[in-house]
Amino acid sequence: MRLSQMLFVTLRDDPADAEIPSHKLLVRAGYIRRIGRGLYAYLPLMWRVLQKVSQIVREEMNKTNAQECLLPQLQPAELWRESGRWDTYTKAEGIMFSLIDRKDEQLALGPTHEEVITAIARDMIRSYRQLPLHLYQIQTKFRDEIRPRFGLMRGREFIMKDGYSFHADEESLKKTYQDMYTAYSNMLRRSGLAFRAVEADSGAIGGSGSTEFMVLAEAGEDEVLYTEDGKYAANVEKAVSLPADAEPSQFTTFEKRETPGTETIETLCQFLKCSPTQVVKNVLYQTVYDNGTTVLVLVSIRGDQEVNEVKLQNELTKLASQYGAKTIINLSVPDAEAQQKWAAKSLPLGYIAPDIADDYIQSTLDVSPKFVRLVDKTAVDLKNFVTGANESGYHVVGANWSEQIKQPELIVDIRKARPGDRAQHNPEQTLATARGIEVGHIFQLGTKYSQIMGANYTNEQGEEKPLYMGCYGVGVSRLAQAAVEQSYDKDGIIFPVAIAPYHAIVTIPNIKDAQQVQIAEKLYKELNQAGVETLLDDRDERAGVKFKDADLIGIPYRIVTGRAIANNKVEVVERQTRQSQEIAIEEVVTTLKQWISEAIEVKK
Ligand code: ATP
Ligand code: MG
Repeated sequence: MRLSQMLFVTLRDDPADAEIPSHKLLVRAGYIRRIGRGLYAYLPLMWRVLQKVSQIVREEMNKTNAQECLLPQLQPAELWRESGRWDTYTKAEGIMFSLIDRKDEQLALGPTHEEVITAIARDMIRSYRQLPLHLYQIQTKFRDEIRPRFGLMRGREFIMKDGYSFHADEESLKKTYQDMYTAYSNMLRRSGLAFRAVEADSGAIGGSGSTEFMVLAEAGEDEVLYTEDGKYAANVEKAVSLPADAEPSQFTTFEKRETPGTETIETLCQFLKCSPTQVVKNVLYQTVYDNGTTVLVLVSIRGDQEVNEVKLQNELTKLASQYGAKTIINLSVPDAEAQQKWAAKSLPLGYIAPDIADDYIQSTLDVSPKFVRLVDKTAVDLKNFVTGANESGYHVVGANWSEQIKQPELIVDIRKARPGDRAQHNPEQTLATARGIEVGHIFQLGTKYSQIMGANYTNEQGEEKPLYMGCYGVGVSRLAQAAVEQSYDKDGIIFPVAIAPYHAIVTIPNIKDAQQVQIAEKLYKELNQAGVETLLDDRDERAGVKFKDADLIGIPYRIVTGRAIANNKVEVVERQTRQSQEIAIEEVVTTLKQWISEAIEVKK
């Protein structure tokens, strides 16, 4: 392609709405253009990158015998009602775009395709002989994200590869899951990315495993905790660790003490001259279930620990059926305004004990009359501890479970693992932290969707059984931008060779010089014929402008038909290292072919 004939517009200044380097660079280099909130046009250079990423994804999927297909983006509401997700997706999280057609039927724009694929499996899979089966597609997804940002990283329309596998049993599911783990690792390695596979939260489905693939970058929205020995890595939402040991309590007798102005653990510990590990902290939450019921939740946890709200939400989802609900739509710390809706009298905030009376709740039809009381394992083990006295300005010291204070029945692990904690698999290892961009997520779904939607098969014994399912997603457009976030310098993008829009760019410093032009034209033609995807910068611009643009768009090799042509040579500059060398004109094609295949093929 000739730059003179391309829609090639680079910008000198960063776009005002871009916060992170990759977003700024992709806009400035003319890869993407913002059309609306979370909506971007993929311009020709970007589209080539996306096609390269898609091709790598496709090749790795096909190696595993998964089959490509294409499912409709418009999905009947009926399917989502069957799975029970219509309300959560349209109302609670509100992430799904929905619409009404001319026949007054409701439809959604697909944010994901579990429902559609399960309907297909229900119709078409009859027997164990058809299993296992794995279908995937590469397609635009729609999600009405609350906070679209960072360009392609969190768009409202983005490209995803999503695959769904069907199995007769868990063992077969686990095998495909393992194959996907390998396939995803290959995809990222081949795309030239530094990444980490981490244990991830699988929500309230529980039991079944899930792994996220994180591209390591400061701009990542996720936090990863890992150990240096490489044996443990998890999303902080899911991570576990050993808490520090608690210090033995100095309060050997039970007493109520006046502790004015000690609403926080810090002020309390200063006042009592004790360690936060001797305190049972009580944190109030409120949750709303999908049937509208509000439940007040009291979490008791050791004073030096924090609540992991993802783990808490999973525990509370397990309790949904007790309230005649299926799932949670909201979990929050109730502010003063929220408390007014249910508090019968003013709460002794900062001085609450695990046994605070239920009569603080003014129960109505929508509000459960009793607290759900949960105690984290770190608090269960404490002896002679400090906690609130249920009276403003007072705490108790030297308290013990079942002596002065009734221990909550629900013992759970909902503490947040933190950097510096000791690892569970080996206490000599401590957790370190890194930021990550989630580019892929693989998931063992089990029989969640097949059961609820009635997708069964007949096993060898002739019995009808629900299908086991797995699902596997890669954010193709997010991955492409993540590559830039990991690889740039002050002059622009440094695309990994495997996903660069072009391998090489031939730059003519002065298009008025006939010899420069003639050699450039010849190389341009021969390189493309040899499969080296090459741009020709034949614009009537100053050489400096052309070099700057080539750096900005990040093409791996720049070939300059400048002064060296007097010696039958051209200058070749590697974008990443900036190393420059002169190569004989007749050797350019073979040399570049060699370099490019080294950069791409070796990783396959
Ligand atoms: P996130 O936690 O970042 O919102 P998710 O858990 O909603 O992601 P999945 O539903 O598992 O993501 O989707 C599979 C993949 O699709 C993700 O790993 C990510 O790479 C990509 N993805 C998800 N949402 C977006 C988005 N709004 N824009 C771009 N890519 C996305
Ligand atoms: Mg999401």
